[in-house]
Amino acid sequence: MFQMATATSTPTHHSIIGGAHVEGEGGTRAVIDPSREVPIAEVSLASIDQCRASVDTAARAQSDWAALPSRARSEILSRAYNLMVRDQEKLAELISMENGKALSDARGEAAYAAEFFRWFAEEAVRVRGDLRPSPSGHNWIAVSHEPIGVALLITPWNFPAAMATRKIAPALAAGCSVILKPATETPLAALFVAELLAEAGVPDGVVNVIVTSPAGPAVAAMLADRRVRAVSFTGSTEVGMVLLREAAGNVAKPSMELGGNAPFIVLDDADLDEAVEGFMLAKFRNGGSACTAANRIFVQSGVADEFVERITRRVEQLKVGPGLKDGTDIGAMVSRTERDRVAELVDQAVAEGATIRTGGTIPDGEGFFYTPTVLENVRPDSTIAQTEIFGPVAPIIRFDNVDEALAWANNTDAGLVAYVYTQGLTSGLVVSRRLEAGMVGLNRGLVSDPGAPFGGSKHSGLGREGSHDGILEFMETKYLATPYV
Ligand code: NAD
Repeated sequence: MFQMATATSTPTHHSIIGGAHVEGEGGTRAVIDPSREVPIAEVSLASIDQCRASVDTAARAQSDWAALPSRARSEILSRAYNLMVRDQEKLAELISMENGKALSDARGEAAYAAEFFRWFAEEAVRVRGDLRPSPSGHNWIAVSHEPIGVALLITPWNFPAAMATRKIAPALAAGCSVILKPATETPLAALFVAELLAEAGVPDGVVNVIVTSPAGPAVAAMLADRRVRAVSFTGSTEVGMVLLREAAGNVAKPSMELGGNAPFIVLDDADLDEAVEGFMLAKFRNGGSACTAANRIFVQSGVADEFVERITRRVEQLKVGPGLKDGTDIGAMVSRTERDRVAELVDQAVAEGATIRTGGTIPDGEGFFYTPTVLENVRPDSTIAQTEIFGPVAPIIRFDNVDEALAWANNTDAGLVAYVYTQGLTSGLVVSRRLEAGMVGLNRGLVSDPGAPFGGSKHSGLGREGSHDGILEFMETKYLATPYV
């Protein structure tokens, strides 16, 4: 299983293709611990030819896996759930080391990641069809759902385990073989998950993990193969648009979980205790590096002073430090590039008129840290309000009128999630309905749930993960006509 670097050695990990650890022919890359800026492992990078070959492997494994009774696939997924629970702490430490996040966040991710195996073990045996006479009375309409075929899965660095299991579990439940390409920065959690799946009894070749860089040409080569029938991507809208164009060339079915820019709206009649708790979760879970992170905080003028005062006190208490250190609330950002991007956004916000209530600094010393920040006097049309921050920064925008707040909240191409806090039943329902988002948290700062359809509207994506919808992303609807007798 996984070896991490010691004072004298840095272990090398390889792609997993057809059940074998295959040394990449495309050079090597260090995996860096973002809290210490030191290598913790090395990965060999698969060449484009090796990526293409992984499609052969997945395609060969596809039909036997699809032919297994759904109960057999379900039982393997159940075992994967139990094994991941067994190894939860190990996985959490690995996530924290390669991503930088606080161990408390990594533990949450490991538990959430495991739940997708449990949920889709349950869904695997519940794929329903339909049988009915046609309106003409001439034939039966028999509808079934078949595995779509080889699926290409591409995941980001912010939830390296959960974004992998959120795709692998429904694909396996549906009867698909997969090739997973994890983010370049965080390949280790995905390799760890693949080893657990092998231990759970997934046959060789059904789950392949390709570690490669640069991602673009390798993914394009795999997606051009006619046997790849689905591409499921979680990442930035920019890359999602590239993949949609590439998928079009092969008419592969796309599922896209893309960027967000979540409004978090606090109305005058909100329960402020709950709103503050919900805000801390929606903004600072995972250090703010979440597509669901509250990105623009709209606070109605009657409660604005008190809300800002209270969250500022809470944010000042957050402990920034190495993810594995006891008591850390906010770990390191994944890379220097990400940290510097967030710092620049804050500087630009200040240049555009915002004021810093707390934070806004890069701490001295090693590690890609940024202090949790509250910004006031942010204009809704300013750069920071129009950009997915993806870091521990909360821009506050005050408003008087709810219609005005809704217009601002919806004035973005993103439509992943929105949050609203109010004690009014009607205002809660009306605001939730008018928010242009695939998901709404009403008096709740966390919406992610394996049993719920996760996904966005507008430029935030296509399709849904989790719930029953997630399995259908990896299935083709088939209709059989036969005379009505
Ligand atoms: P990214 O788009 O840069 O990278 C995501 C993945 O795509 C990585 O594996 C990367 O190696 C790969 N990639 C990069 N360029 C590619 C190309 N040309 N062709 C094919 N693959 C390519 O995103 P990121 O920086 O890793 O993650 C942050 C983004 O992910 C944010 O925008 C965030 O909102 C989004 N995200 C969305 C969800 C969701 O469920 N909607 C969840 C988590 C993260």
